[in-house]
Amino acid sequence: MRRAVCPGSFDPIHNGHLEVIARAASLFDEVIVAISTNYAKKYRFELEDRLEIASETLTYLRGVSVRPMGDGLLAEFCREQGANLIVKGLRSSADFEYEIPMAAMNRQLAGIETVFIPAEASYSHLSSTLLKEVAALGGDISSFVPKAVLKRLSEDPR
Ligand code: ADP
Repeated sequence: MRRAVCPGSFDPIHNGHLEVIARAASLFDEVIVAISTNYAKKYRFELEDRLEIASETLTYLRGVSVRPMGDGLLAEFCREQGANLIVKGLRSSADFEYEIPMAAMNRQLAGIETVFIPAEASYSHLSSTLLKEVAALGGDISSFVPKAVLKRLSEDPR
C-alpha cells in the first residue's frame, strides 16, 4: 500500500495543485491532501473553507482524501497517517532550492521519501499568491481555479 501526503496551505487550491494531485493519485494507492495552518500566517481563506473547497473539488478522484495538518512537523503528520511518501509539485528552480533541504530533512528525521512531480507547463506560473492578487484587483481567474473557489470569492469579495 503506497500512501502519500500532498501538503500545502492551499489558500486557495488552484488548477496547478489539482493537476499534481491527480497525477499523484494515478501513481499511489492513497493520497492525503494535508492542509496546513501556521498560526503566525494570515490566510485569505479560513482552514474550514480551504478544507471544504478541496474536498468538494477532489471528490472525482479515487483514493484522495483531504485532512487538516495542523502546524506541527510534516514528518510527524505522515507518521500518524501511516504514510511514508511526500508528494510535491515543482514549478521552478526556486521551488527546487526550497524543497531539496526539506526533503533531505524529512528523510533523515523520519525515513520519509519526497517525490517531485514537475508542474504541467501551462500551470507552472500559477501560485495561490499571484491568483489572490489578480482576483483582488478584479482580474478573471476562472480558468485557473475550481468553481468552489470562484463561489467563495463572489460571496466574500475583498
Ligand atoms: P505553501 O504551503 O508553500 O503555501 P502551496 O499550498 O501553494 O504551498 O502549494 C502546495 C504544493 O503545491 C507545493 O508543493 C507547491 O510546490 C505545489 N504547487 C504550487 N503551485 C503549483 C503549480 N502551479 N504547479 C504544480 N505544483 C504546484
